[in-house]
Amino acid sequence: MNQTYNFSAGPAVLPREVLQQAREEMLDWHGSGMSVMEMSHRGREFTSIIEALEQDLRELINIPSNYKLLFLQGGASSQFSMVPMNLLRGKTKADYIHTGQWSDKAIKEAKRYCQVNIAASSENARFTYVPAQDQWRLDSNAAYIHLTSNETIGGVEYHWSPEFPANKNDVPVVADMSSNILSRPLDVTRYGLIYAGAQKNLGPAGLVIVIIREDLAGFAQPGTPTLFDYQVHINNNSMYNTPPTYAIYITGLVTKWLKRQGGLAAIEQTNIRKAALLYELIDACEFYQCPVAKHDRSRMNIPFTLKDPALDNMFLEQAEANGLIQLKGHRSVGGMRASLYNAMPIDGVAQLVEFMKEFAKKNA
Ligand SMILES: *Cc1c(COP(=O)(O)O)cnc(C)c1O
Repeated sequence: MNQTYNFSAGPAVLPREVLQQAREEMLDWHGSGMSVMEMSHRGREFTSIIEALEQDLRELINIPSNYKLLFLQGGASSQFSMVPMNLLRGKTKADYIHTGQWSDKAIKEAKRYCQVNIAASSENARFTYVPAQDQWRLDSNAAYIHLTSNETIGGVEYHWSPEFPANKNDVPVVADMSSNILSRPLDVTRYGLIYAGAQKNLGPAGLVIVIIREDLAGFAQPGTPTLFDYQVHINNNSMYNTPPTYAIYITGLVTKWLKRQGGLAAIEQTNIRKAALLYELIDACEFYQCPVAKHDRSRMNIPFTLKDPALDNMFLEQAEANGLIQLKGHRSVGGMRASLYNAMPIDGVAQLVEFMKEFAKKNA
């Protein structure tokens, strides 16, 4: 098979070296005589895998010791409910920043549990930008502020973290970082809780990671199912029930791979270069359009349209014939979307850009 480059938004491309290592270790992990899939999650082998992942992620992201790191299931979508179930702490309101389809889902779910104040929204511009923090109309009684740091479908990303004066620091910021976690350095202390589904930039589907400041746990509202209570998972080191062991193992390999790339500051530089290659072409060539405001464009998910949507299918077919796959835009928006997660090599982006130039020349 020729080299292909996979631009899927998620589940998404994984580093080739990681897949090769997983293949080598598939039948017999480190001489244990077992595949990782066959191990007891409480045995010493798997314990060493999950502990190494925790240590590596803490080191990579620089997670302070008063934050717990949890390995859960149910996808990022489970966090849309788990956050209000746990973080309201007796209050009845929460602030949400509405920047696109994923924040919309978080908002819809939160409304089942509390009064949602839309503190800011970019709906007036079809979700093509991030409302600046000085435009947020926060509710003084809100239990937390929720934002989506990268809108995977709309291609809109926060290139900043919210910052509050010390005397107003008591309302925790909660962030859905599913599609840009580990793509750049992160100041965890600006947040009370961070969650991310693994299948975008961390590993395979089936795992969601949660980073929670420990003082925020322990206040689940009455009736919260045991599995939806952060404190239960903290008390049990994410082993209250069987965690998604194979997804944890692969995420561990991805994390080690990322450390070998030089960590988050280094991968950020590569991600900046990759995104710039594609945006430069889109902006230079009137055949392609990206609707997102320049300063809020995502480095991870780049939506674009062709001058004539009637050419979409031909574009996708020819891209695929050139080994450039999964470029079709989300069903709700159409057009194209190129996801450039950490594991997408810069060569893949360069080849996409070459293909797009040729396609534009032939079909303009
Ligand atoms: C993919 C995604 C989700 C949903 O993840 P699931 O694992 O399917 O629940 C939520 N938020 C963002 C930003 C995403 O990209």
